[in-house]
Amino acid sequence: MSSSDGAVPAEAAPAKPEKESPGVDVATGVDKAMDDFSQRLRSLSPYGDDELRAGDGAERPAGDALPPPLPDDGPTPMDELMREAFGPPDGEEGGDDRAARGLKKVAELEDAAAAPPRWLHEFAPEPPEEATAPPLCWRCGANGPRHTCAQCGVAAYCSRECQKADWGKRGAFGGHKPACAEYKRLGRPPRVPGEDRRPLLERLLAQLRLYMWPFAVRQIEERGRGFVFLQSEVSLATLGLPAPRSPCGRLLEHRRSLILHHVTLAEFDGEICDAFPGLGGARPALAAALEGDGGRAGAGEAIVLVRLACGLVAVVVTPILLDPGVLRRMGEEYAGKDCIQIDVDEVAGTEQGG
Ligand SMILES: [Zn+2]
Ligand SMILES: [Zn+2]
Repeated sequence: MSSSDGAVPAEAAPAKPEKESPGVDVATGVDKAMDDFSQRLRSLSPYGDDELRAGDGAERPAGDALPPPLPDDGPTPMDELMREAFGPPDGEEGGDDRAARGLKKVAELEDAAAAPPRWLHEFAPEPPEEATAPPLCWRCGANGPRHTCAQCGVAAYCSRECQKADWGKRGAFGGHKPACAEYKRLGRPPRVPGEDRRPLLERLLAQLRLYMWPFAVRQIEERGRGFVFLQSEVSLATLGLPAPRSPCGRLLEHRRSLILHHVTLAEFDGEICDAFPGLGGARPALAAALEGDGGRAGAGEAIVLVRLACGLVAVVVTPILLDPGVLRRMGEEYAGKDCIQIDVDEVAGTEQGG
């Protein structure tokens, strides 16, 4: 690009009118997973909400002390969680090397994080035209923007002022500038080049792991061996792009939700294949994953069948990297739920704009 780093790309041709699309109604239903999870974490903390807020730092007067330790009236839920994860604490029998065990655990997690998921099946047709949300100005949210960014051709604005402001925007969501190249690469409607498919999906699965693993472990205990069926009404490209947001953080495109189901092989052969005939090709890979490793499936690994709006179908097996006891605790959230909905923008929100 010849433009200097800070330059705003020139105004391009007026935005093409978007085709009438039926729209994808994925915003229905409430994604409770995130709330549930943070509430659960909070319930494990010995400190109250006010004390936790005081811990944010910004408004605390200098010299303000941390909340006082709670009176010692036996082990807290957090203590029990720590015990499950790292064994007995110092001063108890067998507790001498807890720090060493903790470090070992962290090293194991880091090693395992480097262990790539196994792809057992992959089917990716030419994606259909994606239903797009009605176009809004990426800065102010006004309807019917008249200009698009000359560099990517995707970001749309009602005026030169809005485009300029979005390019230079600072703050939580970073503005368009850092994401422009990615939008240009994937185009509109966004399409993922073949070589990017696996890295993008693996990154998504990694973002979901603290929901997916406890869910899988809980469901296997309740309902028997099976796999996670991950579905979304948006494409891999859309899931992988940073979502445009208004200055107040409101998403300007449709929400990006995923639904996770627990499915047994018998259910796959029945209702799932009836509902989605195109999934039949994934059966051998699913059967192999479920039966192939001497019953370990589901204990040390999560088997995931993926079906996205772009037509991508994949069977991916990811190693589970957390302590089974900790996962079981986290999985209590999902007691009796064979389906959870996750909002990708809630899960990934903090990773943007870094
Ligand atoms: Zn505007
Ligand atoms: Zn752009």
